[in-house]
Amino acid sequence: MKKIGLIGGMSWESTELYYRNINTEIKNILGGHHSAKLVLESVDFEIIKNYQHDNNWEAAATELVQCAKNLEKVGAEFVLICTNTMHKVAPEISESIEIPVIHLADATAERIKSSGFTRVGFLGTKFSMEDEFYVGRLRDKYGLTVEVPNEEDRKIIHNVIYDELCLGQVLESSRVEYLRIMDELHLRGVECIIEGCTEIVMLVDQTHTEIPLFDTTMIHAQEAAKIAVGK
Ligand code: GLU
Repeated sequence: MKKIGLIGGMSWESTELYYRNINTEIKNILGGHHSAKLVLESVDFEIIKNYQHDNNWEAAATELVQCAKNLEKVGAEFVLICTNTMHKVAPEISESIEIPVIHLADATAERIKSSGFTRVGFLGTKFSMEDEFYVGRLRDKYGLTVEVPNEEDRKIIHNVIYDELCLGQVLESSRVEYLRIMDELHLRGVECIIEGCTEIVMLVDQTHTEIPLFDTTMIHAQEAAKIAVGK
C-alpha cells in the first residue's frame, strides 16, 4: 500500500473528515482491519487564512511547499492538498516535490464526467468561485459549463465557510440559505452542484436536497484510497 501525504488543517474540521473518509474507503476496498498508511502536515489555519485575505498567496504557497517537502521526506508517495481553495498554489507545490499532487478539481471533474453531467453549479470560497484556477480548470480541461451564484450569494457562501463551518458551527439558518442558493442555480439550468469547499458537506449533504451533489471531501479521499491500494 502506498503512503498518503496530507496537507491539512484548512480547516481541521474538514481534515478530520478526510481521515475518516480515506480509512472508510480503504476498508471498503480491502476489508478486514486494513487502514490507510498516511502522514499529515497540519498548518495553523489562522496564518493561512490571513495570507488569503491579505492576497498574499506567495507566503501561503511558501508555507504549503514546506509541508509538501516534509511529507516527501518522511516517505509520502503522493500528496493531497486538503482544501479546494489552496489549489490556487498547487502549481508551486507540484514543482517543489518529486511525488505527484492529486488535484482535487481533476478527481471531481472525472467523477462528474462519468455521471454524464455537463452543466454544473459550483459553491466554494470567493477565491475558488471567482478566480480561474479551479472553475477554469473544470471548464478548459474537462469541457464543463460552470455556474456560480450571484455576487450577493457568493458573499453569503464565503462568510458561512469562514465564520461558521471552519469554526465547527453548523447553523440551520445557513443551511436554509445554502439550499436556496442551490435551488436558484438549479433553476438556472445546472444539473448538479459541486460542494467545492471541504467543509460544505458538514452543512448540506444529499439528504437535504434532490439536486445531485458532488462532495469534494469524499471524492478526494476516495481517490486517494484507490491510488494507495493501486486501483
Ligand atoms: N476548506 C475550504 C476549501 O476547501 C476553505 C478553507 C480554505 O481556505 O482552505 O476551499
